[in-house]
Amino acid sequence: PIRVRIAPSPTGDPHVGTAYIGLLNYIYARQRSGKFILRIEDTDRARFVPTSEQMIFDSLRWLGLTWDEGPDVGGPFGPYRQSERTEIYRNHAEILLENGTAYRCFCSPDELEEVRRQQIAAKLPPRYPGTCRHLTPEQIQQNLANGKLSTIRLAVPPRGTDLTSATTFRDELRGNITFEHNNVDDQVLLKSDGFPTYHLANVVDDHLMQITDVIRAEEWISSTPKHVLLYRAFGWQVPRFWHMPLLRNLDKSKISKRKNPVSLIYYRDSGYLPEAITNFLGLMGGGMPADINNGTEQFTLPEMVEHFVFTNIRLGGPVFDLTKLKWLNGEYLRKLTPEAFFTAVRTRLFGDDYLGQISALMQTRIETLTQFGDLTSFFFSDNVSPSQDVFLPKKRNLEETLAFAQDQLATLEATDWTHDSLELALKTLGQDRSWSVKENFMLLRAIITGSTMSPPLLESMVVFGKARSLDRVRRFLE
Ligand code: ATP
Ligand code: GLU
Repeated sequence: PIRVRIAPSPTGDPHVGTAYIGLLNYIYARQRSGKFILRIEDTDRARFVPTSEQMIFDSLRWLGLTWDEGPDVGGPFGPYRQSERTEIYRNHAEILLENGTAYRCFCSPDELEEVRRQQIAAKLPPRYPGTCRHLTPEQIQQNLANGKLSTIRLAVPPRGTDLTSATTFRDELRGNITFEHNNVDDQVLLKSDGFPTYHLANVVDDHLMQITDVIRAEEWISSTPKHVLLYRAFGWQVPRFWHMPLLRNLDKSKISKRKNPVSLIYYRDSGYLPEAITNFLGLMGGGMPADINNGTEQFTLPEMVEHFVFTNIRLGGPVFDLTKLKWLNGEYLRKLTPEAFFTAVRTRLFGDDYLGQISALMQTRIETLTQFGDLTSFFFSDNVSPSQDVFLPKKRNLEETLAFAQDQLATLEATDWTHDSLELALKTLGQDRSWSVKENFMLLRAIITGSTMSPPLLESMVVFGKARSLDRVRRFLE
């Protein structure tokens, strides 16, 4: 039976890339009466964001991409959260130590940094030089007895320039791909804190969860030789690999938050319909036959399951064209019944919760009720245009300021999008460059609300939400 999975890392807001890869895995499984699994890859504790996992669940469900096994629904191959499986990875790293396909490395972070520095200075690719690869059992015992911290590394097979010193795997869209071992690092598999790296955990889980097809983004191709070496080191069968072309900005660079909204929360909060988004993502890459539904480029999720052809996917990077998504969303809005349309407007734009919070900001600020509309239009319309002289503080580069603001605000968690956190962020923005706090506020106020006369900025940003606030900043950088 076919088993596929998506394996997002809970490192922030749910990414459109996750929805795109999720959609493809969903279609693949449903076409073949297989299982679609959701696994949370949360072993990178430095990038872990606690609220991220729930946002991933919510946004994938919102899109209709339901999974058969996962952390929240269970299943026969659990747990489905890697942080609950660390024992399994440690045991598997031991197996590799014993059969000689991995080794203990006692090099300290400082020593590794020094080697890296020298390699970069000599214009060599940074790579572990194998210092610990040939320690004797006695030396290893001695180091362990001395309490020296160690990692476990993959022992990449002999390096050379002929084909026996290379690893070849098949990619279902590209055919055979070969990587010389010269270009494959002795990857750390288990860190000194006992946590696995992505590579070890991913391979062990794909095997134990009996994944038959790994469908993921193209950016993982260069990791695949390491994975194949790991499968062989364990004596396991290698799954089929399908590497999907990356979504691109209009300028063909990898889709990024500077050039496009990449958070699914943004699309939901801005009133995009889930059907329009899955349709749009299904158009990427050319897997849908062009003549479906008379070439309208419009189709439902069940129609994608029926007609999508994986081997037709084109490798040229599909462009994530927001103008096209907007057009498609308009088409879907028109397909709604008048009642459903009214419900959508009411829940997305004028939901009691949203309107109630805005209302609370206005009571002390207006003299007639109709002034409500004048002061709050920025909450309901994306058409804000502050005048130039308002938002350009003296002696400050606008782009630089906004890029800083974008980064600083993006690091706030969705649950930490509060008055106090925002205040701190704006007060410390550019502190080391002596940027004036007053100017920071003026600038943000102009960009978010389109005006110098607005309800209080921080409260407004809290109500407006992280995703849409960040998008207003992004659009000024375009
Ligand atoms: P960014 O560099 O914009 O922060 P990222 O790669 O760090 O993006 P992740 O949160 O790591 O973003 O990505 C989430 C998932 O989406 C990963 O599985 C990744 O492979 C996939 N992904 C990221 N960018 C793209 C893209 N341009 N096209 C398709 N999938 C992508
Ligand atoms: N955790 C990886 C990610 O965030 C999984 C990549 C894969 O599918 O192997 O995308």
